[in-house]
Amino acid sequence: MAKHVANRAEIATPPVVGATDSLAWWLASVRDLQGVGPAATAMLGRLLGISEPRRLDLLWHLPHGVIDRHLRPPNAPLVEGERITLEVQVETHRRPPRRRQPYKVRCQIDGGRLYLVFFQAREPYLRGLLPIGAERVVSGTPTRFGTEWQMVHPELITTREALAATSGLQSVYPLTQGLAQARLARLVDAALDDLPNLPEWLTANLLRERDWPSFSDALRRLHRPTDAGDIDLEKPARQRLAYDELLANQLALGLIRAPVAEMAGRALRVRGRLRQAVLAALPFELTKAQEQTLAEIDADLAKPERMLRLLQGDVGSGKTLVAVLTMLSAIEAGRQAAIMAPTEVLARQHLQTLTKLLAPLGLTPGLLTGRERGAQRRSVRSALASGELQIAIGTHALFQADVAFADLAVVVIDEQHRFGVHQRLELTAKGPQADVLVMTATPIPRTLVLSLYGDMAVSELRGKPPGRQPIRTRVMRLARLDGILAAVRRALDAGERLYWICPLVAPSETLDLAAAEERHATLQAEFGAAVGLVHGRMSAADKDHAMAAFARGDIRLLVATTVIEVGVDVPEAGVIVIEHAERFGLAQLHQLRGRVGRGERASSCLLLYGEPLGANARARLATMRTTDDGFQIAEEDLRLRGPGEVLGTRQSGLPALRLADLAVHAALLAPACTEARRILAHDPELESPRGQTLRLLLRLFERDAAAGYLRSG
Ligand code: ADP
Ligand code: MG
Repeated sequence: MAKHVANRAEIATPPVVGATDSLAWWLASVRDLQGVGPAATAMLGRLLGISEPRRLDLLWHLPHGVIDRHLRPPNAPLVEGERITLEVQVETHRRPPRRRQPYKVRCQIDGGRLYLVFFQAREPYLRGLLPIGAERVVSGTPTRFGTEWQMVHPELITTREALAATSGLQSVYPLTQGLAQARLARLVDAALDDLPNLPEWLTANLLRERDWPSFSDALRRLHRPTDAGDIDLEKPARQRLAYDELLANQLALGLIRAPVAEMAGRALRVRGRLRQAVLAALPFELTKAQEQTLAEIDADLAKPERMLRLLQGDVGSGKTLVAVLTMLSAIEAGRQAAIMAPTEVLARQHLQTLTKLLAPLGLTPGLLTGRERGAQRRSVRSALASGELQIAIGTHALFQADVAFADLAVVVIDEQHRFGVHQRLELTAKGPQADVLVMTATPIPRTLVLSLYGDMAVSELRGKPPGRQPIRTRVMRLARLDGILAAVRRALDAGERLYWICPLVAPSETLDLAAAEERHATLQAEFGAAVGLVHGRMSAADKDHAMAAFARGDIRLLVATTVIEVGVDVPEAGVIVIEHAERFGLAQLHQLRGRVGRGERASSCLLLYGEPLGANARARLATMRTTDDGFQIAEEDLRLRGPGEVLGTRQSGLPALRLADLAVHAALLAPACTEARRILAHDPELESPRGQTLRLLLRLFERDAAAGYLRSG
């Protein structure tokens, strides 16, 4: 440490560097830090789960505790089991009389003796560390052994001078195997010794008001606290960084929305002739929730600004119908509408649903996915460009560069959490004035909407259309396979169609796939030819083939991995068996269960769990058994997993939060959102001097995807 002290003085007042290169230090590999070689880099890589960690990654690995190493006052008594740091004078070394007994070093302390005890010690090392007659500072937990005081494996052995050079507080980090606290602390020191300051992106007012340090100072304080409380999540240093992260998030969301929200739209007002015609042909009425949602949407459409509305609603709550009725407003106005689904299967399903719904109007939707090629693709494209085709359904293929619309007025994005930020952005380019409705069947709690969507308008479809039978959910041990198979046989005999879901989880994907194939083989052996298999590694054509056979009823028991999770609709399927349900998250279980209960008959869900069953998994299964309300399940999911997990990358399309913990920092969300909105209102391209510093913030928190939509500069 000492050799870096001069270094630190040199950088005490660093110049504010230009925005372009001021992040170079932060984004460089840890490898180039003083004293960090390939071995340490690899070790840090393992710790941080990143192959080539950057200095920033190391600095964001914050201590989760602090140990007080201040010297005890003279003559303060030893207390059994209470950590203490004290000065000792080494008297003698005593080798173990027998193997397996410890090596002991007798020391004098004021008012008595203390034995330092080491098991499996290397004598030369200890003699070097604790020379006879020397004064040392040791820190650890004393215990009584008969009449003697001893300290087994002191945590720290140092000198008074070396201790005095520190704050007396030692940070404790989460570790990985093979990496010791002291080693990690030295690596962090190497980074802290060089730490440059950054130009400030927060306002002086805010910093003063909240008593927040600068970004770099916050990191210094969190790694090397001068008070044990400094590292608390509620204290200024961590609050500052949490706010930075939330602000970066809100700015990113704002930048994504900006092209939608800030651009002038066109008021879309129609009499609703087409909508009436479709409704008249339906055997049911709209639910109250659907009517309410449509009223909200119509109000948005009628405004000259663009609509950007999120529609949250459980599986089967009737979102698709709302989407279609919304799109009809565009058609009636002589313009175009498009709906984008995250998968091929879903797009094709929408095609079927829409074809049926629109038939009474004589309207035929067009399909564009990765599979439409050649002449077919060309004809859809030209019909969209000419305006001849009024409704398009597709995957993200709809929004590729070569696709142009004559006059796109309404865009619906289904199951939008499946799309990344980029894809959400691309679509806005296709209809610069289009109104946008995004739909999700994975509701997230109100408290998290802000963090995930910024200040997007939200509609909710709670409850289900009338006439639905509740889904009966049972939880059973997988070990009871005989009983389960008997139940499946009864269902098949009664003419049911069943899903049998096998988990497919990234780290063990190959094994899982083998397990699904094996399950398919067992079930086929048991029940014969009407057993099919569908999984994500199959070709799209094979998948469709299997799904179609299931929809027709040629396949009556469909073994599937989670490819069927989203939106797939076979109303005749009445039973879903989920194997290893303990391995699925709540949201996913709920999605899967939503594959049944779509017809009028009673349906059931069988959750099979392997043992041992952890407490958290048990709670998830209990939730599934007791409720079928996606909003309630979302709240429970939040409680069990915490906001960080719920907002994980997969769901949000945004990187997970690293420094902000919404359980503690939720109160910072609204101010971050307000500030982001104010910033973008004044400086939509982040071009002002402050805007330039905010670009750094976006880079630091990897919200570059959004920053990428700024003009460079
Ligand atoms: P989501 O898209 O939210 O999963 P869907 O729109 O696919 O739900 O609706 C599920 C089923 O409910 C469909 O078969 C649809 O025709 C039907 N449905 C939609 N609205 C109603 C309603 N108001 N009354 C009865 N059934 C409805
Ligand atoms: Mg749907």
